[in-house]
Amino acid sequence: MNGLKVILVFMLVVTPGCLEDLKEELVSCENVTGDCRYEILRSTDYSRLHIEINYVTEYAPDSDAVDLLKQRIQETTDKTAVSVSQNGFGSTDSSYSLEEILAIEKEQRERYKSGNTFIIHILYLNGEYEDNDQTLGLAYTGSSFVLFKEQIEDAAFFLISAEDIEKSVIVHEYGHLVALVNNGYESPHDHEDPDHPNHSNNEDSVMYWAIESQDIANQIDGEPPNNFDSNDLDDLKLMKEGKL
Ligand SMILES: [Zn+2]
Repeated sequence: MNGLKVILVFMLVVTPGCLEDLKEELVSCENVTGDCRYEILRSTDYSRLHIEINYVTEYAPDSDAVDLLKQRIQETTDKTAVSVSQNGFGSTDSSYSLEEILAIEKEQRERYKSGNTFIIHILYLNGEYEDNDQTLGLAYTGSSFVLFKEQIEDAAFFLISAEDIEKSVIVHEYGHLVALVNNGYESPHDHEDPDHPNHSNNEDSVMYWAIESQDIANQIDGEPPNNFDSNDLDDLKLMKEGKL
């Protein structure tokens, strides 16, 4: 007991910065997907939003997909400005576990929310997600998600381009960051798919489960949706207003 006290006092005296960081990490919304919804949707704490993208060389994001994401963020949040930066990096891997994805983000990511700016981080990877090779995208923290660009390219099929799919997946993963569907709140609308938690039961919503699956071709008729439906939008509006 005494020994522990000595260590605690030592830490308090010598490393107050580290303790502060630790505390910040423990209470931050960044640890859980959906928990940063208010910080992203409202302008109270962060009036601006910046999207930082790191991509594996040759798997850079499609510029129209990034523009569409910016537009969807502007449409659904109270932010006064949305900006983007992107940088490439090399990778020799072709199958990524969640631990590896977290490690890559830590190594590549330069900015975290500070001042008046909230940061969303997006990784674009080659290869596949080790735990599920059907995955096209995955939101894995409160402020970050990954897109498997090579898988998106493979998922393209007759009449539906990889670009169309990328547009849908990038908006879908953003939707998870703002807690769609029912991730930490309860919608007044009955629109969560019971078979696919946190996804919409409407296949015309970008939050439909198959949007982030390689099975998208078999599950969706025609062009995949890249916008939220009226129930999704109402949930976001109610969250912004503090009613959810
Ligand atoms: Zn999803």
